[in-house]
Amino acid sequence: MPRYDFRCRSCGATFELRRAMAQANDPAVCPQGHPDTVKLLSTVAVTGVGGASAAPQQAPSGGGGGCCGGGCCG
Ligand SMILES: [Zn+2]
Repeated sequence: MPRYDFRCRSCGATFELRRAMAQANDPAVCPQGHPDTVKLLSTVAVTGVGGASAAPQQAPSGGGGGCCGGGCCG
């Protein structure tokens, strides 16, 4: 038997009910006794598509080694 999620709009509680599919759209009553409930979707797949993050690449800075480093040209 399928299971349906409901949410009470009076107290905000969510609850599950097992009922036949023929009765899926029947009004459900909150466990607290509130008749104002809405049926929730059982499974909501939220897929977020993120943009490609291009990480800035830093060129490795060569540490010296040039001819001016040792004072050969000065
Ligand atoms: Zn309620």
